[in-house]
Amino acid sequence: MKGKAVVCVKLNKGEINPFDGAALESALCLGFDETTVLTMSPPSSSPVAESITRLGVKVIVLCDPAFAGSDTVATSYILSKAISRLNPDFIFCGRQSTDGDTGQVPPMIAERLGFSSVAGVMEFSESGVKTRAGKSYPFEKKTVYTFERIKNLRFPSMFSEKGEVTVLSRGDIGAETEKCGLIGSPTRVIRSYESEIGRRRCVFVKAEELKTEIGKALLKNAVKKEIPDPKEKLPIVYYVGNLKDTAEKLGEKAERIFAEGKTAEDISEEVIGKDVKVLLFEDTDEFKDLAPKVAVKTDAGICADCVAFGVSDGTLVMTRPAAGGNVTADIKCEGKRTFATVRTAKRGTSDVVFAVGKGAAAHMDEIKRYADSFGAEICCSRSVADAGLMPYSAQVGLTGKRVSPKVYVAFGISGAVQHTCAISGAGTVIAVNNDKNARIFDYADVGIIGDISDIDL
Ligand SMILES: Cc1cc2nc3c(=O)[nH]c(=O)nc-3n(C[C@H](O)[C@H](O)[C@H](O)COP(=O)(O)OP(=O)(O)OC[C@H]3O[C@@H](n4cnc5c(N)ncnc54)[C@H](O)[C@@H]3O)c2cc1C
Repeated sequence: MKGKAVVCVKLNKGEINPFDGAALESALCLGFDETTVLTMSPPSSSPVAESITRLGVKVIVLCDPAFAGSDTVATSYILSKAISRLNPDFIFCGRQSTDGDTGQVPPMIAERLGFSSVAGVMEFSESGVKTRAGKSYPFEKKTVYTFERIKNLRFPSMFSEKGEVTVLSRGDIGAETEKCGLIGSPTRVIRSYESEIGRRRCVFVKAEELKTEIGKALLKNAVKKEIPDPKEKLPIVYYVGNLKDTAEKLGEKAERIFAEGKTAEDISEEVIGKDVKVLLFEDTDEFKDLAPKVAVKTDAGICADCVAFGVSDGTLVMTRPAAGGNVTADIKCEGKRTFATVRTAKRGTSDVVFAVGKGAAAHMDEIKRYADSFGAEICCSRSVADAGLMPYSAQVGLTGKRVSPKVYVAFGISGAVQHTCAISGAGTVIAVNNDKNARIFDYADVGIIGDISDIDL
């Protein structure tokens, strides 16, 4: 394909992040006139950077002590400083790193360089791409494309030779010290800990009691509160999308900013005009793309995928899964503005949701039939969506949807925090798992220890 491409990748523990690997493989498949891989990595990653050159691409490593501790705002600044020197036609990125899923860096790069952005590429050909949201776009120059994990990066040929890796420092790319690393990063982690959000006291029952337990749970009306009311409030909280309740809990006053169909430029003008200090964005595809762009334009710090909030000493405290979801982190922003994208529960039409995990995938048909008898909606864990057994739209979790039915039944789901963080709004959680130590039982009201095949589905 005609043109120059830059592929941004993250190297971690001697490996290329698999989502970025998919972006690079896609660029290789398209066969651009020139492909440059750009990575911001410590010197320890040079062997893997060198091995990438064997794929016939140029590799640039951005390496400087000043880059340490960069959040998304600083990372996007550093990458775009380097990219602007390369003057590419296309920029490819992976959707997320394995230890974080903010998805903010690609739209921020787009904003900083004046590019368009297309997120969630699931399929592509020379003429264009199809995204996770089912939309099609032509390949257009000056666009940042963000790829899902749709391909595995090829191995270099046995006969390939290593090329040269160019290492560039802060000075080489003309980046200002105060915009890099920790100094240039408005977000600060206050503490990280094992999350208590969504924890429940599990009562174990026998496999044959599943139907009765679902029936009992349906009679209970209450759906658990998603976000506890903070003791302290902020003077005013602005919000975009369907977040009135959350904003009202956090602010003495809550005011909506209508962002639907508007550009980052329009919203930024309003944010600056009203001197917005705290702005919450609902996590729709449109706003997840818009929020980082507005943050870059208005000098805001931004925290993605927040699941809870508090207020401490007049500052918003944002809670989100961190470090690959093993822990939860409380984060605050220093600087003039604080933005957050908020995980919202999508209230489906059914009172009952059945979620199929990897441990139950072999019983999908029986579970679907059983679900029909309750009028239950079928969802899944990410392992099942990644395996292509169910569509991504059915995935529950940090990178899927948040659900809040009266009853949530998890079949063969281990209960990773990225999954459980999205079911805290369910009235009753019932879990079926053959491992008595599975984490899901700490997040369930009712547990059945047993094999899915023991359940009379
Ligand atoms: C940044 C990031 C974002 C993520 N986002 C999401 C997300 O949105 N949603 C999500 O779900 N995950 C997400 N994940 C992945 C998450 O960490 C887990 O890997 C995933 O949830 C595991 O899916 P699972 O429970 O179906 O599979 P597994 O972890 O493999 O668990 C399968 C379970 O089934 C049980 N089992 C096996 N066989 C049987 C049987 N015959 N009968 C009964 N039980 C059985 C096992 O004991 C095990 O507990 C994310 C990860 C990262 C790093």
